[in-house]
Amino acid sequence: MKKLLLSIALLALSSQTLLAGQKNTADIKLYALNCGRIHVSDLNVFSDTDQYIGKEKTLNVGCYLIKHNDSWLLWDTGLSSDLAKKPEGITSGVFHMTLEKNIAQQIEPLGLKPKDITHVAISHGHFDHTSNVNEFTDANLIIQRAEYNMIKNKADEAEKIYMYKRDIGYFLKDENSKQLNIINGDKDIFGDGSVKAIYLPGHTPGHMALLVNLPKTGAVILSGDQWHFTENHKSNDVPTFNVDRADTLASSDKLNKIIKNRGAKLIIQHEINDNQNLPKIPKALE
Ligand SMILES: [Zn+2]
Repeated sequence: MKKLLLSIALLALSSQTLLAGQKNTADIKLYALNCGRIHVSDLNVFSDTDQYIGKEKTLNVGCYLIKHNDSWLLWDTGLSSDLAKKPEGITSGVFHMTLEKNIAQQIEPLGLKPKDITHVAISHGHFDHTSNVNEFTDANLIIQRAEYNMIKNKADEAEKIYMYKRDIGYFLKDENSKQLNIINGDKDIFGDGSVKAIYLPGHTPGHMALLVNLPKTGAVILSGDQWHFTENHKSNDVPTFNVDRADTLASSDKLNKIIKNRGAKLIIQHEINDNQNLPKIPKALE
């Protein structure tokens, strides 16, 4: 009888562990890609309370490749590959953009080609996060419902800061396609607690961040554009071009609490300092 009770207790404990999603036995690694640089000649566009009048700054454009067992998940696809053919870069408004190597060139040392990418997840639909989605037509696209609707309902001539429909056109053709994984809110992507999308509306309607639970480093947060640089995180400024101020502040509060409760390492995707110390491909954060 005692033995039976003990096995029931152990069974209950193991199912609890699985439910909590804490038990992570997946082979998981995070590779940092460099998907461009943006020099901002008027940093004040990142504050609707005039925090940065007269300031300028160079931002990183971060894309990340996550190995999960036999799957390869690309988080954000950065500035357009075409930009790598123009070393002088291009200017649009207050942004001057450059790109050294496209994604295909950067994943080559891992023995990977674009067709090997099994999942693409985009934090949101701005052009500096999504310009190359159509290069990964063998992948499943993971996107929030609110963001998908927003992109789909836009006119062909997209607003300046949003991606052009042609960059994601393959995935707009058939909303019932098995290659589309449209999600609503937070989502445990592989069902084992190791990679989780965190819904953070405000910057755009369906903006999200990604939590990656690495075996050695522990929890890592890829910020999306919840914050654009360290100072912007500390002062919690709201960019002038966000779609909803109140939602942005609520999302900041949510993400700050997750970072605290999980003891997570925060990588602000546009902050050069958060990215330059990450291992360079073929090395990974483990
Ligand atoms: Zn951005």
